[in-house]
Amino acid sequence: MNTEDRADFIQPEEIEKLLAKRGGTSSAKVSELLAKAKELRGLTMEDVASLMLVQDEDSLADIYSTAKAIKEEIYGSRLVFFAPLYISNRCANECTYCAFRATNTELTRRTLTQEEVAEETRILIQQGHKRVLLVAGEALPPQGFQYITDTISTIYETRVGPGEIRRVNVNLAPQNVERFKRLKDAGIGTFQLFQETYHRPTYSQVHLKGKKRDYDWRATAFDRAMEAGIDDVGMGVLFGLYDWRFEVLAMMQHIRHLEETFGVGPHTLSFPRIEPAVGSDIASRPPHEVSDADFIKMIAIMRLAVPYTGMIMSTREAAEVRRQTFAVGISQISAGSRTDPGGYKEGAGDPNGSQFQLGDHRTVEEVVTDVVTLGYTPSFCTACYRLGRTGQDFMDLAKPGEIKYHCQPNALSTFLEYLCDYAGPVAKSAGEKLISIELQQMDGQQTACTLPMLNQVRRGERDVFV
Ligand code: SAM
Ligand code: SF4
Repeated sequence: MNTEDRADFIQPEEIEKLLAKRGGTSSAKVSELLAKAKELRGLTMEDVASLMLVQDEDSLADIYSTAKAIKEEIYGSRLVFFAPLYISNRCANECTYCAFRATNTELTRRTLTQEEVAEETRILIQQGHKRVLLVAGEALPPQGFQYITDTISTIYETRVGPGEIRRVNVNLAPQNVERFKRLKDAGIGTFQLFQETYHRPTYSQVHLKGKKRDYDWRATAFDRAMEAGIDDVGMGVLFGLYDWRFEVLAMMQHIRHLEETFGVGPHTLSFPRIEPAVGSDIASRPPHEVSDADFIKMIAIMRLAVPYTGMIMSTREAAEVRRQTFAVGISQISAGSRTDPGGYKEGAGDPNGSQFQLGDHRTVEEVVTDVVTLGYTPSFCTACYRLGRTGQDFMDLAKPGEIKYHCQPNALSTFLEYLCDYAGPVAKSAGEKLISIELQQMDGQQTACTLPMLNQVRRGERDVFV
């Protein structure tokens, strides 16, 4: 795809036609679609449109229980942990919903030095993290793009005792192919980018200045990333800007485009809802606010539609909503997050430096203890990416059966690392109990693979994975 290409794979007419269908979806149709989803081969746009129409409580309950079953079949009880690392809140764009927008005078601007990046990284390591999501506004310091690649190197090189960050994902502005290659060479995991809204008129209304005004440059970014050899890309929409039903179907078109062009869809999907942001009116009163009920429904439907795709829930949401989303398909979560550069060192998080308000203020350890109590296994695993299992290779591995002998043992060994090195007594006792329950539930082959790994970790070995 040429850089000047339009994102013609987003076809609003096709979406509008599907959305124009009124009335409900019969329970017989819902059952047929859920039976199809259970085959784990995904759903079409038409199927998704039908499920979005479901209103009756019984059918909704069936959708949720099927989403839960599919998540458990593919991911087991795992929830992968990560933390965002904001390195700069300077930005040349003017996105009306974001505190970092160029003309916002209420914000204290800051770009971290490499020493400050290392300091933030050390704090995240000491919280137990192994994955970070590097995030920045869209204005480079005088060193140019080198600043970004230097920062990635700094994060990977920073160590505290046995701890280190093993996977750096990024959420950055769209790049050209040459810069995507530099990001790949710097060792990024996933390139994450949210289209914000796929609805062109709304896109123009909320992006007032800068390169981000170019809808097509943004929507075609994954094509350039994949051309550059980055095959883990993370898709998302900023929910609240436009009708969520339109956005979900547009995401389905984007996914379809990547699958048809590159043979593999996105590695992850994110579901950010707009949160209040300093100096933004629209962020406090989103024009198309998504209710909690619709939010849960959309996540469950996407779990059915793209069963092998990682689905991410950030700390934008409050703890209770997060818990509900874990039950219907979320597989990765952030914890202990700050959205202001330097926020981990400064502690409370500077509201005048932050991108938006958080809904979940708990520490990593509190979130770990909570999810363990709910029966999930926190995972700090980064094995796939480091073994080159990305893109299609990852999707092949993600087939049920295979995952039992890789992901589940890796989840337990990295969780045990966390318990040994970073957990306090409460998390430790809850975690050890969970590990023994998980071991009891394993078949002989799984135990034979997992037990030696756990023993290695208990003896002090680190970074043990298969
Ligand atoms: N500046 C780059 C960009 O815009 O793509 C990357 C980083 S930007 C800080 C990351 C994401 O934050 C945006 O894509 C947007 O979806 C999200 N965001 C911005 N304002 C937000 C708000 N008020 N509430 C929730 N999420 C927000
Ligand atoms: Fe800048 Fe990204 Fe915020 Fe837009 S969303 S103002 S590009 S940081």
